Amino acid sequence: MPFDPEDYTAALDRAHVYAESWLASVPVRPVHPTATADELLAEFGKPLPDSPTEPSAVIDELVLTAEPGLMAIGSGRFFGWVMGGTLPAALAADWMVSTWDQNGGMRYATPATAAIEEAAGAWLLDLLRLPSGSDVGFTTGATAANMVGLAAGRGEVLRRLGWDVDEQGLQGAPVITVLAGEQVHASVLLALRYLGLGKPQLVPADDQGRMRPDELALALAEIDGPVLVALQAGELHSGAFDPMRECIEIAHENGAWVHVDGAFGLWAAVSPRWAALLDGLDTADSWATDAHKTLNVPYDCGVAIVANPAAMRTAFGVRTAYLLRDSDGPADPFELVPEMSRRARGVPVWAALRSLGRSGVISLVEGLAANARALAAGLAELPGVEILNDVVFTQVTLSFGSDERTQEVTQRLIAEGAVWMSGSRWRDRAVLRISVSNWSTDEADVRESVEAVRRATRESS
Ligand SMILES: *Cc1c(COP(=O)(O)O)cnc(C)c1O
Repeated sequence: MPFDPEDYTAALDRAHVYAESWLASVPVRPVHPTATADELLAEFGKPLPDSPTEPSAVIDELVLTAEPGLMAIGSGRFFGWVMGGTLPAALAADWMVSTWDQNGGMRYATPATAAIEEAAGAWLLDLLRLPSGSDVGFTTGATAANMVGLAAGRGEVLRRLGWDVDEQGLQGAPVITVLAGEQVHASVLLALRYLGLGKPQLVPADDQGRMRPDELALALAEIDGPVLVALQAGELHSGAFDPMRECIEIAHENGAWVHVDGAFGLWAAVSPRWAALLDGLDTADSWATDAHKTLNVPYDCGVAIVANPAAMRTAFGVRTAYLLRDSDGPADPFELVPEMSRRARGVPVWAALRSLGRSGVISLVEGLAANARALAAGLAELPGVEILNDVVFTQVTLSFGSDERTQEVTQRLIAEGAVWMSGSRWRDRAVLRISVSNWSTDEADVRESVEAVRRATRESS
């Protein structure tokens, strides 16, 4: 078939109309989906037709069938898990990423997207107050970014002992001990699994889930051999940050590599208000964060940052360590992430940052935290509500009394559809967890959300 640009027109026109009507529906529709995956599979999973279908008709069918199964994650009253919405500039840029269809792996082949990602990476280092010479890779999310940082660390701690993990693998290698806080995120456990490092040794944390430096020192004193320490900036239930400077100093005194999982919490570093809470963050060796959470770009977009470029490029590039020199200049994007071929997912990050500007990024992050405090204050007034965490950032965790009552209120709340908050367990209790991650949440959303919880508690026996 000869290429005709007009072949795209009808389908893209439909997509544009549907996109706008979806976005207009987000603030007013029930937040929860109204169909189950099994119900939708019955529609989508019909036998593949023998003959082709017009692209525009495919889009009609796709969108109209999917509609009841969509969660309004972009709603200002969606507080589930830790999921952001999407900023207008980021969404539009994401459309361009698909339209350009660049395979974003090589500077030489796809210079525009490589340059945009390098620029976005440099802006991120500046905003997050991390060392300016670090390498920045755009991954699918923080799970992959955790794997990148820990892979760079795994290679480096073994290299210092004369062991080349890229050549020799892990079999017969010096045994690496991994230390992580008691409240480590499951994605770090996954990343360690991918790397063949198994389960970490858990270091006791305080009541907000922060790693205790004295316990870290005790654990390190017992270890003879290479060590990776995984710290956390932003605990899922409390939002709390591990004491960075203290933990990193202790770890470095013991020759450990320090990786920080800051999927959402790393963004606190942009705000002068929290700079003190994250003091020393920049002295770690690697960091993982998400752009699809706090920065509100579309899925999927995580960020892996490694202070020592050689450690990152040996882990993911195709050249071995002895071929890497400082004069090598910027890496090819594929040398910074697990994939060779991939979409240029750093482009929406550039667009988001460009549209917000420095002050906009700070207001975005501070605004999320201010909304979390406002929600906590409003909810604390409701009878029987107990706020369980110190609300230091974007996370609020509460209980309505017994586990049964908390679960009952949570179910009622979600079913009503005005908001979405997550049922979870924390410190052996059933809890309701709120994560304020959406750029569009405003005072009215906060008020309405408190009212929705009030209704759910009232109806509860
Ligand atoms: C969300 C999250 C992750 C995992 O990020 P993905 O983008 O889902 O891969 C890791 N750590 C923390 C603290 C998180 O909140």
